[in-house]
Amino acid sequence: MESKQPSPIDLLVEAHTGLERQGPGCAEETGRALAFLGDLDLIANAADLGCGTGAQTLLLAQHLKGSVVGLDLFPAFVDVLNGQACEQGVADRVRGVVGSMDDLPFQRESLDLIWSEGAIDNIGFEKGLAYWRGFLKQGGYVAVTCPSWLTDERPAVIERFWTDAGSRLDSVASNIEALQRCGYQFVAAFALPETCWTDEYFTPREAALEGLLRNYPGNETVEAFVADNRHEVELYQEYKQHYGYVFYLGRKR
Ligand code: SAM
Repeated sequence: MESKQPSPIDLLVEAHTGLERQGPGCAEETGRALAFLGDLDLIANAADLGCGTGAQTLLLAQHLKGSVVGLDLFPAFVDVLNGQACEQGVADRVRGVVGSMDDLPFQRESLDLIWSEGAIDNIGFEKGLAYWRGFLKQGGYVAVTCPSWLTDERPAVIERFWTDAGSRLDSVASNIEALQRCGYQFVAAFALPETCWTDEYFTPREAALEGLLRNYPGNETVEAFVADNRHEVELYQEYKQHYGYVFYLGRKR
C-alpha cells in the first residue's frame, strides 16, 4: 500500500484544524479591541478575514447584534466555524465562506467592521488595509493584528524567519503611518501579551505536532514541518522582547 505523503500545507491544516486559535491571540484581547469601537449595536455587517476556525468570529457574534461573515482560504477551517455557529445557535447571523482576503466577495461600502487577527501579513499590512477600505462604509472600523517590531533593534535571524514565511515586520509607528496613509483615522494600537503566543497558541500546537509525529511515523516531510514549528517557538523565546503581534484599530475617513 502507498504511504501517505502530505504536503506542508496539508500538515498546516491538519495541525491547526483542532486548535481553538490558528495564531497568537485570545478572547480577552479580542474583547479589549472591541471596546474601542464605540456603540457595537450600530455594527450591522462585519467580516472576519483569515478567520481560521473562527474563535474570534464567534466572539464577535456574541458582542454584536448584526451579521458576521468569516472568510478563510481553507475549507476545513471554514467547516469548523460553520459547525460551531450551528452548535451555538448563531448560524442565522454567522457564516463561514471560503475565499481569499485579496479578492473579497462583498459589495463595496457594505461593511461596518473588518476584523482580521493574525492574517493581514499574508497579503501585506498596507496593501490589505488599502484594498479592504473600499468595502467599508464611511466611518466603518478596521481591527487587525499584525506581527511588528517592538524595539529599534531588529535581530537578523527574526527578520529572515518572517521573510521566509512570506511576511515583513515593520515598527508600530510605521504601521500607524501606513494605516493613516490608507485613509483611516488612527483609533488605537496595543501589543498582545506573551500568553497569547505561549498558553493560547504554542502549547496547544505542540500537542497537535506530537499527534502528527504519531500519525506519520518516520515521515521526513512531517519531521521537517514539526522542526520548523519548534524553531519558531525557540526564536520567540529568545527574541520575544523585539517583536510581537500588535492590534491596530482604525476608522474609515
Ligand atoms: N484569525 C485566526 C486566529 O487568529 O486564530 C487565524 C489566524 S492564522 C495565523 C492566519 C489565517 O489566515 C489562516 O487561517 C489562513 O488560512 C488564513 N489565510 C492566509 N492567507 C489567506 C488569504 N489570502 N485569504 C484568506 N485567508 C487566508
